[in-house]
Amino acid sequence: MADEQKNDTPKIAKIEVDRDACISVASCVDIAPEVFELDSEGKAVVKNSQGNPDNTILEAAQSCPVNAVILYDEDGKRIWPKE
Ligand code: SF4
Repeated sequence: MADEQKNDTPKIAKIEVDRDACISVASCVDIAPEVFELDSEGKAVVKNSQGNPDNTILEAAQSCPVNAVILYDEDGKRIWPKE
């Protein structure tokens, strides 16, 4: 099942979108449509941080060509992009 939570994905506690970096490719929206949407400026925004499983959110972040989706775990440590 594609939506099944994978054990190797860290728990995602916070999702940020770097609006200045976002170039409106929308691959994040394609992969995690319940989490991301494009606003009226064509920039990605988080509409529901719990909308898709964490491994799907990670995949969406990794799909962003400009690394504009930034993920943090419960300790505030950055999960993606890798430091
Ligand atoms: S994939 Fe990246 S550049 Fe594309 S809409 Fe999402 S955040 Fe913006």
